[in-house]
Amino acid sequence: MSKAIGIMIDGEATWHAPSAGLTDYATLCNIDPDDPSIGYTGHIQPPRGQRITCQHCKTIWTNVVAMRLRARDFD
Ligand SMILES: [Zn+2]
Repeated sequence: MSKAIGIMIDGEATWHAPSAGLTDYATLCNIDPDDPSIGYTGHIQPPRGQRITCQHCKTIWTNVVAMRLRARDFD
């Protein structure tokens, strides 16, 4: 099973990490998949083994991992 979230953007399949925030965006890079006015035309199911290809999602993930936060860092 793939962890990737598929979003059609300008007629092309794109693959993202799932959202981890408190918003209603579908992806880690804050995409609303149902916004045809800017070319975002819905979810698509990832094929088995699909990898995340979005560089924005990768950058966010890389930067969070680099913080090396622990549960004790939070109040
Ligand atoms: Zn993304």
